[in-house]
Amino acid sequence: MLKLSADAAETIARHAESTYPDECVGLLLGHLEDDDSKVVTRALAVENRWAGQVSLAETDNAESRRDRFYLDPRDYLRADREARAAGMDIVGCYHSHPDYPATPSDRDRVGAQGVGGGTGFAFVIQSVREGRAAEVASWLLVAEGERFEQEDLVKEYL
Ligand SMILES: [Zn+2]
Repeated sequence: MLKLSADAAETIARHAESTYPDECVGLLLGHLEDDDSKVVTRALAVENRWAGQVSLAETDNAESRRDRFYLDPRDYLRADREARAAGMDIVGCYHSHPDYPATPSDRDRVGAQGVGGGTGFAFVIQSVREGRAAEVASWLLVAEGERFEQEDLVKEYL
């Protein structure tokens, strides 16, 4: 389960609206609770540095940031240092789906390989429709990266 603070939820929604119709990317900072649920207290926007790093189908436009995201490992490390300094961990990442449901694409599955720390790492997707933030969902990469499984997401006022 992912518990999203109202502040983090707001940050994700506004970030997704501001980059529309491109995708936005960010990291989720917080901590794990005893029952393994994740508490996200802060969403940290990072730049979507898509530049063709992930192999795609031939039909894809390699320049487009509308339908893909790329999380730069350097941004990840920088955020990780920032998180630790604040006594938090990176418990997941987020990206937006402009005019598309909050369900992961196969490209997301490819891009998610090797991202984050372990099985509980959350992949949050914020849907944006016609420029307005819509539904949000959290996914876990399971079966050794073969597929995504949705996890419960609750918004909390922390
Ligand atoms: Zn996606």
